[in-house]
Amino acid sequence: MAPTEFEGWLGVDKSAVKGNMKWGKFEPKKWAEDDVDIEISHCGVCGSDMHTLSSGWMPTPYPSVVGHEIVGKAVRVGSNVKHIKTGDRVGVGAQARSYMKKDCPDCSSGLENHCAIESVNTYGSVYPNNEGKSYGGYADHNRTNAHFVFKIPEGLSSADAAPMLCGGVTVYSPLKANGCRPGKTVGKVGVGGLGHFGVLFAKALGADRVVGISRKADKRKDALALGADEYIATSEDADWATKHMRSLDLIISTVSSEKMPMNDYLGLLKTKGTYIQVGAPDGGNLPPVNAFTLIANGIKVGGSAIGAPREIEEMLQLAADKKIKPWVQERPMEDANKVVVDFEDGKPRYRYVFVNKKHT
Ligand code: NAP
Ligand code: ZN
Repeated sequence: MAPTEFEGWLGVDKSAVKGNMKWGKFEPKKWAEDDVDIEISHCGVCGSDMHTLSSGWMPTPYPSVVGHEIVGKAVRVGSNVKHIKTGDRVGVGAQARSYMKKDCPDCSSGLENHCAIESVNTYGSVYPNNEGKSYGGYADHNRTNAHFVFKIPEGLSSADAAPMLCGGVTVYSPLKANGCRPGKTVGKVGVGGLGHFGVLFAKALGADRVVGISRKADKRKDALALGADEYIATSEDADWATKHMRSLDLIISTVSSEKMPMNDYLGLLKTKGTYIQVGAPDGGNLPPVNAFTLIANGIKVGGSAIGAPREIEEMLQLAADKKIKPWVQERPMEDANKVVVDFEDGKPRYRYVFVNKKHT
């Protein structure tokens, strides 16, 4: 049975992102019979956690517990929940609830991740009707609506499954939706947590050629070992933008900088190619895009948000079937403050995953 009061790493102000979270108690959302309580064993560390700890996107409703790549054991299951039993190994991604009624055009067509009526993030959201706040996975327990709680397929370790729940699906979804398949060439800009999944999933979906694109040359060996056919180091390879011009059908960008060389990235697209932005800069602004770059090449620029529940299930099964092996580095959850600082220093290769030794 889960406790009524939970404990976790609370960000109490912007300094949390500098390694200043405090361990403490918090009150989970009000229990509903559609919910599942999870005893957390693992939680991935995502770039979005940092934007939230620092109030980079918008003011965070502190105290806030971040972490939305959660895996653990279901310890309390609401009476309305059919697909999960107490004791199951389950996971939660970046979304904790949506409106889920027929009059929502998104929820009723399997696009819950785009619900504009009542979307609740796994952390940093306030539930309607005084149900409380959402708190994430740098913690001992989590409470989430069962529609957003997934059984982890056998064959996937908890440490490998955790970062797929946000980082994995955020690239899997736009790769699938934008025609990543045999015959296509795909570029991944930003070989970090999301980007490394991009290389793995683009290959798993059968792309002919996958190109990793990041700033420094020191990730070249890793990108090729992950399965990329080529790697571009934008800070070090001379003339990369002209040398690789019009070579890619699809680009997924995980970079979250207002200063990134976006027009050069767009120039890498073949005629009629597609660029999808998933990296989310503080403040939300992208660099200005030159209209002639879009017009001359006939290209499209779009975005994508995490993935819908059905896509998360499909991705987990694909990863289990194809034995996809992410590069994770397990870190003790008690070292969370040091881990956040290491993340901000760009050290993960390629995803840190907390292990909660109380529950493993
Ligand atoms: P991450 O592990 O830090 O990876 C980002 C990578 O971008 C870095 O490894 C960095 O690699 C590369 N990069 C290239 N140019 C950069 C620049 N000018 N400034 C900073 N980095 C640059 O972070 P992540 O967890 O993959 O998350 C990436 C972004 O996606 C975050 O903004 C996150 O909030 C967002 N996100 C969006 C969604 C969504 O639904 N759309 C979901 C999850 C996360 P190099 O140092 O090698 O260049
Ligand atoms: Zn995330």
